Amino acid sequence: MQVAGQVAALIGGQHVATDDVITVTDPSTGQPLSTVARCREAEVAQAVTAARRAFRDDWRHRTASDRAEVLRRFATAIREELAELATLESRDTGKPLSQARADVHTTAAYFEFYASTVLALHGEVVQPSAPGTMVLSVREPHGVTGHIIPWNYPMAMMGRTVAPALAAGNCCVVKPAEDAPLTPLRLGDLALEAGLPPGVLNIVPGYGEEAGAALAAHPGLDHLSFTGSGSVGAAVTRAAAAHAVPVTLELGGKSPNIVFADADLDAAVPAVVSSILQNAGQTCSAGSRLLVERRIHAQVIADIADRFAKARLGPGPEDPDVGPLISARQRDGVAGQVAAAADGCRIVTGGSVPADVPGGGFYYSPTLLDEVDPGSAAAQAEIFGPVLAVLPFDQPAEALRLANATQYGLVAGVWTKDVDRALWLAREAEAGCVYVNTFGGGVEVPFGGVKRSGHGREKGFEALASYTRTKSIVLRGKPCG
Ligand code: NAD
Repeated sequence: MQVAGQVAALIGGQHVATDDVITVTDPSTGQPLSTVARCREAEVAQAVTAARRAFRDDWRHRTASDRAEVLRRFATAIREELAELATLESRDTGKPLSQARADVHTTAAYFEFYASTVLALHGEVVQPSAPGTMVLSVREPHGVTGHIIPWNYPMAMMGRTVAPALAAGNCCVVKPAEDAPLTPLRLGDLALEAGLPPGVLNIVPGYGEEAGAALAAHPGLDHLSFTGSGSVGAAVTRAAAAHAVPVTLELGGKSPNIVFADADLDAAVPAVVSSILQNAGQTCSAGSRLLVERRIHAQVIADIADRFAKARLGPGPEDPDVGPLISARQRDGVAGQVAAAADGCRIVTGGSVPADVPGGGFYYSPTLLDEVDPGSAAAQAEIFGPVLAVLPFDQPAEALRLANATQYGLVAGVWTKDVDRALWLAREAEAGCVYVNTFGGGVEVPFGGVKRSGHGREKGFEALASYTRTKSIVLRGKPCG
């Protein structure tokens, strides 16, 4: 909601304006889109206090079905505002409108899913126990949970982390990314309108080094969920460790699609292309490496190059195939990484900032890098743009070795009709999720990384459990007869 000419923070159910503001830029035009509150330590502290009060006095005392009912109403409100939310997301991030529409549905689906699964959350009776005793293991919410989210899927990332936390009975403080805070703030208003009590969900937009750092270091947190880059993930972990606050980390990736010669290429090639062009490659689980069997390498490369060259670039709200990157800084970073890679590989298509897209947005051409040296930065570093690195292989063992030869381990795609090979790779790939003859999974599929891609799981039933902690209760009674 606008207060004093800015989209205000949401603290304790109140809209709070700040003296300074953040100017949010429209990536499709490079022009200012909105001004948003610039929260700092004081506002973050107020939000944590408001969340603690709501937790203590209200939310933790509600039954699971009460909480579920509110979350279902919230999901309905999100779906009813599909068009407005999708347009806002598309303008704020530059992503194609149809992708933003899909994000709205995904966001609502998180609240629906956790409204249902929380009804199945249960503890345990521990057996055997000593005669005359009963041992119970019950699940309780952590209390106040902090959520630092990135700009690439602001709405869906917020839903992914906040929905299980709220369903489990926690009260949340969300720090959206400074580049794209608008839909998280709108979701806060919708939640209030849907009947979420004041203080249960607080949203403090601000810069990472100000609001983000203050939230990570706040002694009043009971749990922190961080989604973003590895370097900031390490910093927030250190800050939270000062108060023994547990941290879930969802970080970056350099995820492979492994395509064998026997694969259904009519399914594999479009999936490989969309896995790197969706959201202009700014997806943690982007399929940014293609490991392709040498026998089909030339054919697959030609097909992908053709699709890249034909991809329509344009402003997100006009629903192009590929929108702009989030900022000039992000575009320049991608361009710099591709320029540095140019000597060690063959640029088949792209590799430049396109000159012919009108409107002043932050575009980068879909770029295909072939014959990439497996040890080079182009094969190892997350580029976070529409850039696909291709590494041919001859033997399955070589494919596995290449797949695992990065510091990351978020997801991996395997494309083959050979069930032995698929199963073997699914078990041996160092990744939190392996997709066979598909790429991606729904809200019910646990998601998260291994190695430098993070730890802990979002999505699925596992995320709900992770927003609770176990309390053991040992009861002893005397015989009465
Ligand atoms: P980022 O780490 O720069 O920012 C993420 C969030 O952290 C933002 O809200 C930012 O304001 C905040 N932040 C920045 N500095 C901070 C600090 N010192 N203390 C506390 N908070 C701070 O990352 P980004 O550029 O916004 O996002 C891109 C990265 O996120 C990529 O590496 C991508 O792979 C990763 N990502 C991972 C997932 C996942 O599920 N694994 C999902 C989306 C994005």
